[in-house]
Amino acid sequence: MSDARATGSSSASGTPDAIVVGSGPNGLAAAVTLARAGLEVLVLERASTIGGGARSGALTIPGFTHDLGSAVHPLALSSGFFRRFELAKRIRLIVPEISYGHPLDGGRAGLAYRDLERAVEALGADGPAWRQLFAPLVQNAHRLAQLTGSPLLQLPRHPVTLLRFGLRALEQGLPSWNVRFADELAPAMLSGLAAHSIRPMPSLSTSAAALMLGTTAHARGWPIPQGGSQAITDALADDLRAHGGSIVTGAEVGDIRELPAARAVLFDTSPRALSRIAGDRLPKGYRERLEGYEYGNGVAKVDFALSGPVPWANEELRRTPTLHLGGSREEIAAGEAEVEAGRHPESPYVLVAQPTVVDPTRAPEGQHTLWAYTHVPHGSTVDREEAIVAQIERFAPGFRELIRASSSRTAAQMQQQNANYLGGDIAVGEPTLAQLVARPVLSREPWRTPAAGVYLCSSATPPGPGVHGLAGYYAARSALRHEFGYDLHPYLGTGSPGGS
Ligand SMILES: Cc1cc2nc3c(=O)[nH]c(=O)nc-3n(C[C@H](O)[C@H](O)[C@H](O)COP(=O)(O)OP(=O)(O)OC[C@H]3O[C@@H](n4cnc5c(N)ncnc54)[C@H](O)[C@@H]3O)c2cc1C
Repeated sequence: MSDARATGSSSASGTPDAIVVGSGPNGLAAAVTLARAGLEVLVLERASTIGGGARSGALTIPGFTHDLGSAVHPLALSSGFFRRFELAKRIRLIVPEISYGHPLDGGRAGLAYRDLERAVEALGADGPAWRQLFAPLVQNAHRLAQLTGSPLLQLPRHPVTLLRFGLRALEQGLPSWNVRFADELAPAMLSGLAAHSIRPMPSLSTSAAALMLGTTAHARGWPIPQGGSQAITDALADDLRAHGGSIVTGAEVGDIRELPAARAVLFDTSPRALSRIAGDRLPKGYRERLEGYEYGNGVAKVDFALSGPVPWANEELRRTPTLHLGGSREEIAAGEAEVEAGRHPESPYVLVAQPTVVDPTRAPEGQHTLWAYTHVPHGSTVDREEAIVAQIERFAPGFRELIRASSSRTAAQMQQQNANYLGGDIAVGEPTLAQLVARPVLSREPWRTPAAGVYLCSSATPPGPGVHGLAGYYAARSALRHEFGYDLHPYLGTGSPGGS
């Protein structure tokens, strides 16, 4: 560990009870959970700033704040961990009226109003089919969040909700996925959601992701944290320090033997890094399984500082923070198939966030930031800025003239920014059905490794990618139980929190 910078109180004895390697949302959620149980906790972070995939800062020109990773946070509201942490009371989560928008050519757009009935009305002839698809899930959004926020390898607590969800996922996961729709808007909206999984579609895993995200859009909404995703990280770090924990930045852990003695070490890293760092502390067979864990395709990202608001052809999109670009369902599926085949599509799927339409604190008055990424083959070194600009121009002619500055990163550079994102895979492991169940290994307690006191707490464990803190929380609970003899966590309570 070199050039380390510490913040927070240091352990009274000089030896922490628990060490967390990595300060992403899962690492910090684990640290908070352990510190709130009365343990001395030390967090070691390789980067010079904390937060991993939930960080904000300067990327372009002075006066503009950009999100380096996450920008839109449906799971910050539905996660049982964040609800018990009372995140919504600690920071301002701005919930927009329209969760996401999906433009098509000619100025039409799918508008996912948070109010399901408004969305139904906006969809016209396909509105009733949208209602039929989502209403039973939205009515049980709380239960669905519990199911999708929990390890899959357990008896479901809400079998009826699971059945409803499963039948719909099956329908949307098959080539007959347009069966209930007449128009192209609703199918395009569903594919825009499904594409979040960075996988070919239709498939069960992409349709499950689409329905889960689509449900949050009409339930609690898709919030934007005021000031950027860093606000979430800072709230966790403040709570950790208030409970005696410390964070050291610029502290890359390369070998578990370098670490101070601690009863538990929790790794907010990729499985491959865990295997390398823990080395022969882990049994050979387990290391082989960690090394056999598969990573998926990557993302290439561009951040823009803009002189004014984006002139979206559809005016409703001018106030919508999150947009899915790429056109029709068929076009999006074709683009994702190209990526899977190792190519860079000419007309790619682009995920856009324009947070300043609801949070003007991040740019000088009247100016804006725009965050956009697209999918690329694993490890790609191709700069996709021009392809992203062209796709935005398609739905917002004149966008190019607004660009004051930009910062573009290839998939390979995403990995340099955060070692967890191998080949630019921001999900840290391809979210296939198999790897959602065995994440990273098939176990009822996948956070716990066979080595005493060694845990994995990153998004390579259930419930997978996203800013929800649940993987960290589950790993910490496992460590509290096995290393420190706690049956329950005194602050965060009993049972599986999922979305409760
Ligand atoms: C471009 C992008 C956009 C995204 N958009 C969204 C979004 O809008 N909404 C959403 O919910 N999610 C989004 N995500 C995903 C989300 O950010 C991640 O799923 C989440 O951050 C995972 O949290 P984590 O704690 O598991 O890991 P990370 O946040 O990746 O943190 C891991 C930390 O560990 C550190 N580390 C790794 N190895 C070592 C080591 N050896 N020693 C010390 N430190 C180490 C890293 O530097 C990093 O800080 C996005 C991610 C990216 C990159």
